[in-house]
Amino acid sequence: MWVIVDHTGDEIEDIALELLGQARELADRLGLSAVAVLLGDGVRGLAPLISQCGADTVYLAESPLLSAYNPDSYTPLLADLIRGQRPSIVLWGATDQGRDLAPRVAARLGTGLASNCTRVDLSEDGLLVMTRPAYGGKASCDVLCPQARPQMATLQPGAAPARRPDPSRQAQVVAVDVSLSSQSLRLRLVEVIKIPSSALDVTEAEVIVAGGRGVGSEEGFHLVEQLAHLVGAAVAASRPAVDAGWAPYKRQIGLSGKTVAPRLYIACGISGANHHVVGMRDSRAVVAIDLDPHAPIFQIADVKIVGDLRQVLPSLIERLRRLRQERGTAEDEEVLRTLASVPAARQVS
Ligand SMILES: Cc1cc2nc3c(=O)[nH]c(=O)nc-3n(C[C@H](O)[C@H](O)[C@H](O)COP(=O)(O)OP(=O)(O)OC[C@H]3O[C@@H](n4cnc5c(N)ncnc54)[C@H](O)[C@@H]3O)c2cc1C
Repeated sequence: MWVIVDHTGDEIEDIALELLGQARELADRLGLSAVAVLLGDGVRGLAPLISQCGADTVYLAESPLLSAYNPDSYTPLLADLIRGQRPSIVLWGATDQGRDLAPRVAARLGTGLASNCTRVDLSEDGLLVMTRPAYGGKASCDVLCPQARPQMATLQPGAAPARRPDPSRQAQVVAVDVSLSSQSLRLRLVEVIKIPSSALDVTEAEVIVAGGRGVGSEEGFHLVEQLAHLVGAAVAASRPAVDAGWAPYKRQIGLSGKTVAPRLYIACGISGANHHVVGMRDSRAVVAIDLDPHAPIFQIADVKIVGDLRQVLPSLIERLRRLRQERGTAEDEEVLRTLASVPAARQVS
């Protein structure tokens, strides 16, 4: 049971920790070992956390040619490794890298790939059941790969809970031979340009602040954007907010928009109609701000604030600005705590 580890070079991405937890659980049920594959340059220091989070073995491939993601180096290396070791299942994060790399490797191996899965499980006969959205989120379908191997899926962030690291766990670290030459690389990384998170594609964002009809006006929507900017979130919108021209269609969440599963979704003046909720119900934590205590969005909210956005948002923005000045950043927990203490709001739970 393999997991391809996404990392920044210094840190393991949350999605990789989630996949490790999932792999551990499935490996135990199938009587397999859980193997993590770590590619990069000078990344051996990440192996202990990987083992603490569930891996029995870490395949470590290190080379300056692997320092940044390059499909020309990562694809042949992983395809050869998988061909040689013949894992039964390989899990990938549905990240920029995973979405680009997994199909390339699948094509080389002649196996299938279920992309963007929201869940994986086992069938009675031990096949991987890969659940992914279909028809724009109106339905979900279970995908099986009964013949070709390995069975492969990319999983959306938040699809599985990460395990608490167990410091007593120690994985075997196996160095992988890397025989790549720079001549074989057709792509060259010239520069990394960081996109401000508020301009991020909503499907990639870990935190989203979304505005709905209740925001009331274009000026009201600017407050939503300000809040998003402060917490490093992407801006999203319900359909009426898009129809009003406050946000572009590419930021619409819901049945006829995008499906997202961020760590935190802050819904401002969005009633929670089913057409909207199907696009964000897999968010790990939901904060809802609405005037109407009976708004359906509160049924799926973890923090529920009954209040007028015209008072709640400025007060919240002011508090977060102060927090940022004091600390330089505002983490999710601090945002949640701040939200829960906004004076203009009556918090119902
Ligand atoms: C086929 C089809 C596809 C659709 N696809 C989508 C889709 O992809 N995405 C989508 O979002 N919708 C979609 N819709 C529309 C959907 O059914 C709802 O109409 C829409 O989601 C409602 O948007 P809203 O919550 O912003 O507005 P409303 O339902 O009008 O809710 C506004 C909320 O703001 C609150 N409010 C008002 N003023 C304030 C204030 N000052 N402070 C705080 N709260 C306030 C109100 O109490 C209310 O709860 C679709 C509909 C159809 C028929």
